[in-house]
Amino acid sequence: VRGDGDGWVECAQGHRHWGRLGAAGLLLRTVDDAGTVRVLAQHRAEWTHDGGTWGIPGGARDSHEDAAEAALREGFEEAGVPADVVRLRGNHRVDHGGWSYTTLLADTPQPFDLVANAESAELRWAREEHLDSLPLHPGFAQAWPGLRAAPATVVVDGANVVGSRPDGWWRDRAGAAARLAAALTGLRSRLATGPGGEALVVRRTVLVLEGAARAAMDAEPDDGWLVRVAADGSGDDAVVAEAVAARAGTSDAVVVVTADRGLRARLPDRVGAAGPSWLRALLD
Ligand SMILES: [Zn+2]
Repeated sequence: VRGDGDGWVECAQGHRHWGRLGAAGLLLRTVDDAGTVRVLAQHRAEWTHDGGTWGIPGGARDSHEDAAEAALREGFEEAGVPADVVRLRGNHRVDHGGWSYTTLLADTPQPFDLVANAESAELRWAREEHLDSLPLHPGFAQAWPGLRAAPATVVVDGANVVGSRPDGWWRDRAGAAARLAAALTGLRSRLATGPGGEALVVRRTVLVLEGAARAAMDAEPDDGWLVRVAADGSGDDAVVAEAVAARAGTSDAVVVVTADRGLRARLPDRVGAAGPSWLRALLD
């Protein structure tokens, strides 16, 4: 069915674009059993505009749709993506004046069978780093470096996060900390949207414990992925030290989870801060 947004348009920058009302695409990620981030990549059929290149499912937005609806419709039409397995995380919009392209950032719990239509020569759950070696659609190639999921270390201010929910933690601080540690194992290789709206994949979590909660250190062995740190003195000092250490010598993202404003003000540059609710939304 031909939509009312189909057609070519010239933007204010003098380019010719598909989509009279703008266009939208679906950047759908998943993490496989090995912890590898994969992206639903589409090899565009030769007969399409910029045919033979790789990109993501997408196309013209129709007048009755918003960008998310258009992206989900295109994902279903071109790749057989069922809308009910897609979790929308945010969007990235490029506006040329008179034409815009919105990339819906989304993830899904596990890879599923993809169904190509005539516009797709091939569909693939491509490793993120593998995308760089494919001949990319020019528009996608320009946006891709800012869209890829950055490996992230999440440093958790244990006392602050445990204290953010009145579940009786004060009666058994070590038990509450152990429950938090157990819950954090669910963060492994989890895709997340960082406090600045950026795409992240959690590669390491550091849980800082202080006071009586330090008894939770022995609950189970650390495996290098979830690291528990017992603060000798101030938990805040230990959180700052862990953020600095995670930041040093790597371009990975670092997110500190705390609602403590004083602590947030002490964090080094290029370290993001998120509240306990951000963490709980990821764990739920
Ligand atoms: Zn343009």
